[in-house]
Amino acid sequence: MNLTMYKREVFENYISNSQIARVLSENWFSSEMYCPCCLNEELNPHSANTKVADFFCERCGNEFQLKSSKKNFGKRVVDGEFYTMINFIQDNKTPNFFLMSYSSDDWTVKDLVLVPRFFISPSIIEKRNPLSANARRAGWTGCNLLIDRIPKEGRIGIVKNQEMVDKLKVNKVWRKMSFLGNRKPDLRGWTSDVLKCVEELKKREFELSELYKYENYLEELHPSNRHIKAKIRQQLQILRDNNVIKFESPGRYSLID
Ligand SMILES: [Zn+2]
Repeated sequence: MNLTMYKREVFENYISNSQIARVLSENWFSSEMYCPCCLNEELNPHSANTKVADFFCERCGNEFQLKSSKKNFGKRVVDGEFYTMINFIQDNKTPNFFLMSYSSDDWTVKDLVLVPRFFISPSIIEKRNPLSANARRAGWTGCNLLIDRIPKEGRIGIVKNQEMVDKLKVNKVWRKMSFLGNRKPDLRGWTSDVLKCVEELKKREFELSELYKYENYLEELHPSNRHIKAKIRQQLQILRDNNVIKFESPGRYSLID
């Protein structure tokens, strides 16, 4: 993988910096990025004329959306219309997101993070304030992706500090959690949220009572559920059945690397 985005022939046709950044990052993405799911060497752009940078893998059918920025991505990533996003999640149509930060000094890729579609659940979608009555699209309501609510398996580094991560390692992390893709959107949101709480403990071994401390946090994410503790136990079983954690003794668990 070559981390240089600069290509004179792409550059020449554009004037504004934002246009140049967009074409260079999209061009780099189509020529250098592989499919993290099936390791197909190529991802195809949907159309050169769409505003959204959409790509797909011909072999496994995964869809990808590229977001690129000069700045590092923070906790919140701006996305499109809120209700569209929620419907996409319910219909299992969410794409995989690539978050790319680049340097515009030398046009190189600094960091590239993949958020697999199966980690996108209502828990990580924040509704923004509707646009004011004076706005051209008055009433339009956007959303943010709250990246810091996703467990580390859902933020897979492809390029870290201008260094490439091994493809097989990327694919292994993808496969570890891909069972979530077979689950209903609200159920997989629960699994991901509980795994995030486990990781927040920052311990290899942990106890059920420690996880119960996140009861209020999980209740905020899932306001319609009244049985949070039972739900936590159920998710631990799912994580165990899929080799993410191990049951050591009653009420005691450990993370599997
Ligand atoms: Zn693929």
